[in-house]
Amino acid sequence: MSETVYLNGEFVPKSDAKVSVLDRGFIFGDAVYELLPAYNRRLFRLREHLARLRYSLASVRIANPYDDERWSELLQRVVDANPWDDQSVYLQVTRGVAPRDQPFPSPPVEPTVLIMSSPLRQPTEAQRAEGYKVITREDYRWLRCDIKTTSLIANCLLRQEAVDAGCAEVILLRDGKVTEASSANVFIVKDGIIVAPPKDHLILPGITYDLVLELAKAHELPFEMRDIPLTELYASDEVWLTSSIREIMPVTVVDGMPVGNGAPGPVYRAMYALYQDYKEKYARG
Ligand code: PMP
Repeated sequence: MSETVYLNGEFVPKSDAKVSVLDRGFIFGDAVYELLPAYNRRLFRLREHLARLRYSLASVRIANPYDDERWSELLQRVVDANPWDDQSVYLQVTRGVAPRDQPFPSPPVEPTVLIMSSPLRQPTEAQRAEGYKVITREDYRWLRCDIKTTSLIANCLLRQEAVDAGCAEVILLRDGKVTEASSANVFIVKDGIIVAPPKDHLILPGITYDLVLELAKAHELPFEMRDIPLTELYASDEVWLTSSIREIMPVTVVDGMPVGNGAPGPVYRAMYALYQDYKEKYARG
């Protein structure tokens, strides 16, 4: 069965979907995106992803091509047109096609809209049991990491450094404080308290970040949002990474040193169970 994508008003086979070489997404990375899972063909945390999309579009001054209702319908149609029950759904909006010039095209052109999907590939049980090895690096990205832009060259370079070091991810530090990972948010646990860096312009406001804190609140697990210096990262009992696709992943090695006793910790296991419970209720409707 062929894979179907949505491109600029049409549902077409993935292999037939083409955009112009003059698309500003291609030329400048002038585009924003979202990535969200569908479990049992139901889009998870859709409302929250659409709210973040609205924020990203407004931040880069691209007019939102659709209202939330239309977005929901188009995303669901892509999910329904593809052969997998669990999917990873990607949407991208670029400023559109125009002669190469930095200022925005005037008058504005139609944005390019792509929705595509692939089978949801999540970490295996073995990977969860072992946890991730990560390195730390200086966060040299720009100062608007709260916008979910496709301009991800710095993230790609930093992530490749992790891969070259035999690690799964890289935790980034700005002025000696943890921001996030190349494609995930970071949490630590110390003395039973869950700690996350504050949501500001230096990190992506993760949908999973919010859900983890929502679950912590609902189940009376203590948490704080505050700066995490590198020394505290090294001294933490647990470190987690969160993202929509990887959900919550334990980190067991940072810069070659074990986190806590080097195995996924009890607060991770409790939070992971709460997350799975929440997700399964959702997927069942
Ligand atoms: N930070 C960055 C830089 C990311 O790319 C991602 C994944 N999109 C996240 C955090 C986690 O965000 P979410 O929980 O919304 O997937």
